[in-house]
Amino acid sequence: MKTYRLCRDLEVEEGYDLVIAGGGPAGCAAAIAAGRLGARVLLAEAMGCLGGMGTSGLVSEFDPMANGEVMLAGGIMREIIETMCTRGFLPDCSEPHRWRKDDHRYTPFQPEGLKLILDELVLGANVAVRFFTRVIDADMENAGMVNGVIIHNIEGYKFIKAKTFIDATGDAVLANICGATCREAGKDTPDIMPPTLCALFGGIDWQYTRFIYKECVPDTQSENIAKAIEEGMFTQPDYHLPGMSKIDTNLGALNGGHLYNTNAVNNASLTKAMFWGRKIVREYEVFYKKYFKGFENLQLVSTAALLGVRESRRILGEYELDYEDFKARRKFSDQIAVFAKAVDKHPASCSIEEYKKHRERFDKTDKYAVGEYYGIPYGVLVPRGFKNLWVAGRCVSADVMVHASLRVQPACSMMGQAAGTAAVQSMETDKTAGELDMVQLVETLRKNGAYLPQEHLNPAITRSWKKLYQYDTAWFLKNTHEQH
Ligand SMILES: Cc1cc2nc3c(=O)[nH]c(=O)nc-3n(C[C@H](O)[C@H](O)[C@H](O)COP(=O)(O)OP(=O)(O)OC[C@H]3O[C@@H](n4cnc5c(N)ncnc54)[C@H](O)[C@@H]3O)c2cc1C
Repeated sequence: MKTYRLCRDLEVEEGYDLVIAGGGPAGCAAAIAAGRLGARVLLAEAMGCLGGMGTSGLVSEFDPMANGEVMLAGGIMREIIETMCTRGFLPDCSEPHRWRKDDHRYTPFQPEGLKLILDELVLGANVAVRFFTRVIDADMENAGMVNGVIIHNIEGYKFIKAKTFIDATGDAVLANICGATCREAGKDTPDIMPPTLCALFGGIDWQYTRFIYKECVPDTQSENIAKAIEEGMFTQPDYHLPGMSKIDTNLGALNGGHLYNTNAVNNASLTKAMFWGRKIVREYEVFYKKYFKGFENLQLVSTAALLGVRESRRILGEYELDYEDFKARRKFSDQIAVFAKAVDKHPASCSIEEYKKHRERFDKTDKYAVGEYYGIPYGVLVPRGFKNLWVAGRCVSADVMVHASLRVQPACSMMGQAAGTAAVQSMETDKTAGELDMVQLVETLRKNGAYLPQEHLNPAITRSWKKLYQYDTAWFLKNTHEQH
C-alpha cells in the first residue's frame, strides 16, 4: 500500500471530557445529557445542522413513543417533543395524546423547528458544537482505550484529545475505525434493508385528504400506488410506500422510493443512490399530482441532503439484543430505555410477496399489544471490550430484526441520553464502560426523566456471554476470568 506524508503536523486541541461524533437524535441527546451533568463536551457534526436523519434526512416524523398506556420515551426526547408542541412546530393535526399515550401512532413535525430546538438545547447545555466537521480517524492508547480523534473541517485536520468518546454517527464510523467488531449489512446479514431519499413538497391542499393508520398519510395511497404501477408510472414496481405525511398547513414530507441494493458503507454506492433517489422523487411527484385531490399544485421544495440509510453497520456490544429478546418482551435490571415499536424490516426487493409478508409482520406478528414493551439493556451501547467508548443510535448492538425496531428517532434519543450519562459517570467514578454501577446509572437516568419501570436493580451489567463466547472464545475466557 502506498502512503503519503501530510504537509502539516496535526494541531492538538485538549480540554474536553467527551467527544461525540454525529449530531443526530442519539448524538444530540448524549451531548445535552453530558453537558447538563457538567462535562466539557465537543459535538462534531458532518452537516450544518443538528438532528441527523430527522432534519438533514427530511425524516420529518417521530415514531411511536407510547404503548397505549404510558409514554415510554422520557427524558430529553420527551422534552423535545413537548417543546416542539408548545412552540408550534407540529402540524395542526397533532394532539399530545398521540405521543403521550396512544399505541403505535406517529408524530410528524417541521424539520426547521427541530433544528432550532436542538440548537437551543445544546447551547443551553454548554456543548461546543462544530458543524461541517467529520471525525475521520482515531488514536488508541491501548486495546479498548481511545486517546483522541482526528477531525476534519475548514481549518484542516486537528487531533482532539479527550477522556471519553461516543460514536453517534449512525454507521459506527468511529467504533469501526477503533477496531470494534461490527456487523455489516449484506455481509453479516443475507441482504440490505434499502435506504430512501426523502423529500419535502409544498402546494398541498390537505382539506380533501382522509388519513390512514399513521393518521398523516392519505388513506387511498395503497390502492392508488397499485393502479399507478399497472399504468407503468414508475421505473420500479415498488408497492411499499410509507407515504406523504402532513407536516404543516400545505407542506408534506415524502418517505417513498426504496433504493434497493445500496451499500451505505461504500461511497460509490451511496453516490449512485443519491442520483437515483432524486430521479425517483420526480416519479412520486407525478403520482401524487395525478391521483390525489388537493395535490394538483404539488411542488417539490427539496430532496434531503442526507441519504435515508436504514441499515449499515452495527457494533457487537457487551450485550447483543436479539429477536428472541424482542419476542419474549424481555426486561433487564440495567435497561436504560424501554420501547415498543414493531419490527419494521423493509424488504430488500420490490417483490409484492415480500411486501405482503412485511405488512403481516409489521401489523400482526411483530406488533406488541397495548401496554407491552421490551427493555434495551446498557450493554448494547458498549463495544465489546472497550473502556471509554460508547455507541448510541441506530448502530448499537442488536440483531437485524431488533435493529428494525429500535433504529427510530425516539429510541435513538433515549440511548443517546444513556450513553452521555454513562460517559460522565465513568469519569466521575473512574470506572470503565464495562465496570459501571448500573444502579447508579439507572437512578441518574430516572432523575433526569427516563421512564425505567424495572423494580429490581443490580449493579452488574447484563452481558450476552453465550454469544461473546461463540464469537471470540479467547476474549471471553480472559474477560470472564478477570470478572470472577
Ligand atoms: C427513510 C427513513 C425513514 C424513517 N422514518 C422514521 C420515522 O418515521 N420516525 C422515526 O422516528 N424514525 C424514522 N427513521 C429512523 C431514524 O430517522 C434514524 O434511524 C435515526 O435518525 C438514527 O439516529 P442516529 O442518531 O443514530 O443517526 P442519524 O440520525 O443518522 O445521525 C447521525 C449523524 O451523524 C453525522 N455523521 C456521520 N458520520 C459522521 C462523522 N464521521 N463525523 C461527524 N458526524 C458524522 C451525520 O451527518 C448525522 O447528522 C427513518 C429512517 C429512514 C432512513
